[in-house]
Amino acid sequence: MNMEASLTARDRVGIQDFVLLDNYTSESAFLDNLRKRSHENLIYTYIGTLLVSVNPYKELDIYSKKQMDTYMGVNFFELPPHIYALADNVFRTMQSEYNNHFILISGESGAGKTEASKKILQFYAVSCPSTKLLNNVRDRLLLSNPVLEAFGNAKTLKNDNSSRFGKYMDIQFDHQGGAVGGHILSYLLEKSRVVHQNHGERNFHIFYQLVEGGEEDLLRWLGLERNCQHYRYLVQGDCAKVSSINDKSDWKMVRKALSVIEFSESDIENLFAIIASVLHLGNVKFEADFKALYLSSCDFLKLFFCLAVQLLGIPTQVLQQGLTHRKIEAKTEEVLSPFSVDHAVYARDALAKAIYGRTFNWLVNKINESLANKDSSRKTVIGLLDIYGFEVFNVNSFEQFCINYCNEKLQQLFIQLTLKSEQEEYEMEGIEWEPVPYFNNKIICDLVEEKHRGIIALLDEECLRPGEATDLTLLEKMEEEIGGHPHFVTHKLADKKTRKTLERGDFRLLHYAGEVTYCVVGFLDKNNDLLYRNGKEVISFNFYCKKQVVTQFKSSLVGLTEILMSKEPWYVRCIKPNEAKQPGRFDDVLVRHQVKYLGLMEHLRVRRAGFAYRRKYDIFLQRYKPLCPDTWPNWRGTAAEGVQRLIKHLGYKPDEYKMGRTKIFIRHPRTLFATEDAFQI
Ligand code: ATP
Ligand code: MG
Repeated sequence: MNMEASLTARDRVGIQDFVLLDNYTSESAFLDNLRKRSHENLIYTYIGTLLVSVNPYKELDIYSKKQMDTYMGVNFFELPPHIYALADNVFRTMQSEYNNHFILISGESGAGKTEASKKILQFYAVSCPSTKLLNNVRDRLLLSNPVLEAFGNAKTLKNDNSSRFGKYMDIQFDHQGGAVGGHILSYLLEKSRVVHQNHGERNFHIFYQLVEGGEEDLLRWLGLERNCQHYRYLVQGDCAKVSSINDKSDWKMVRKALSVIEFSESDIENLFAIIASVLHLGNVKFEADFKALYLSSCDFLKLFFCLAVQLLGIPTQVLQQGLTHRKIEAKTEEVLSPFSVDHAVYARDALAKAIYGRTFNWLVNKINESLANKDSSRKTVIGLLDIYGFEVFNVNSFEQFCINYCNEKLQQLFIQLTLKSEQEEYEMEGIEWEPVPYFNNKIICDLVEEKHRGIIALLDEECLRPGEATDLTLLEKMEEEIGGHPHFVTHKLADKKTRKTLERGDFRLLHYAGEVTYCVVGFLDKNNDLLYRNGKEVISFNFYCKKQVVTQFKSSLVGLTEILMSKEPWYVRCIKPNEAKQPGRFDDVLVRHQVKYLGLMEHLRVRRAGFAYRRKYDIFLQRYKPLCPDTWPNWRGTAAEGVQRLIKHLGYKPDEYKMGRTKIFIRHPRTLFATEDAFQI
């Protein structure tokens, strides 16, 4: 190819690795490259080993078995960027170093995280060594996805298949690299969706799948009509039908998946009966005369009670009472006091949410049982983290607060593992280094979770003052305690101009990914996640002494961080090119914003100035000592001296590496690939 032709190609398709960008400090150059590539359907670009992925919003012919074969076992930078290359690189590093890894997939709602995690899983399912036994595990690993998506994903305004729970999945590999098991951790399901959906949004997919796709006999048995419009819990968003979703065929898929994951027929029947019960429960109406509260009679009520006895094990009288009366403990006895209609509706919805939430946890446990590996020999794991993305709606509530807090924590982890620790490591190892400034979102994490005066602490404190505290007292308390914080503002605290954009019940957080205005209404209630006492009896589940929702969530995120910190990290940063969910549209302003807050420019700067690969001297020597007669089979001096001798023999040039205090740093992966290739010669 002549020079001119190759320049044209580069001009057209951009470069594959941002590290090679001439003008690597320019945001516009970064954006130009991303735009060029996504117009050519080249949705993947590297920053070193980090993968940037732009959602194409259309099916691309790049995920075939043939493509998988192409990427399998090939050095990372030898082929065009691909999610398979990343998956393969992680797998091979795990195999050669025999340690644990995780892939953090991040980006805002609709950016393509869940799709990316599925592609990675599919790659492992197809590429790992196989036996019949392993095939079973693989099928279950793969099919756990449609099941969890059916019960945990829903259409939102941002994404027709939005994850409404966080998911961390470990894939366990044996010594030969076969996928032998898995384990899933789920985080804070958005249960409020069961009883309420905003306009243009849906309930969890499974409800529509059952109503649209359920077999005639099943629906008859469950007393369901084949019409979503019949069910209050399905129509509040006024969009039961979505053009991009085929509930009927998804139903078939879920049914098949449940059988493969070894749910018994009776488990499956019970599962759908519970889902049907939730729909029936949503249709229960109440009538009050001046003394008492009744359930309005209607056709399905009898059937519902029948189902409740059969499936939930709740006697009719307990359920009926639970929905209409509150139990109050007097000195020596319990007294029943009738609810108002509003209270009854609240109790009904609380029960529906609790039933669904418990069912979801049960489902995750069942899947885990099916994925569990019984063999006790040591395994290595690759963890996949796919959590709900950062989201901003016109009205944002407690759920968005939790989701966005979670994204702050993940960003903090990314910063710690890449920008912060990377630079600290150079310093510690005595490698010359010009620090790269970056925005550290720790200040926002602290604002939310600091002991005693963080938003979570204040919220919990208010939840402990039932009867006195309200959402508005929470707001006042926040104004008192954190009023001066640069990332927090309310109507009262705002300057004249900002005040116009805030209602009195709002507070605004300046998140790392942008401003979000939260409406404080419902925060206390949702954080308490209260079931009236007899509601608790109804689902025979002990909610007493339970921690508040957000505190539970906070500790589960601490647990997650610990899990991740013990593994080697890899990153996929997903970018949403436009808000219209359309192919071929690249909105510069939107993408620039994401590039900024995802910290991609800083990451590039650190990568560009730094070293792609580093290893402790002893590990490096252990792996490569066969390549040099002086170090093979045994080296008697220090590991650092051994490495020095080894790389001299291999002909490393001075600008290709640096020797730190305890590690060797290699500037570009291609140097290492050449060393790896020397094994084959
Ligand atoms: P959320 O945080 O709301 O769960 P997400 O980041 O997980 O969002 P996805 O559900 O993965 O987003 O992607 C949204 C939609 O974008 C998908 O349903 C699909 O239509 C499209 N999409 C994403 N990635 C790809 C891809 N690689 N190829 C084709 N389409 C894609
Ligand atoms: Mg998702």
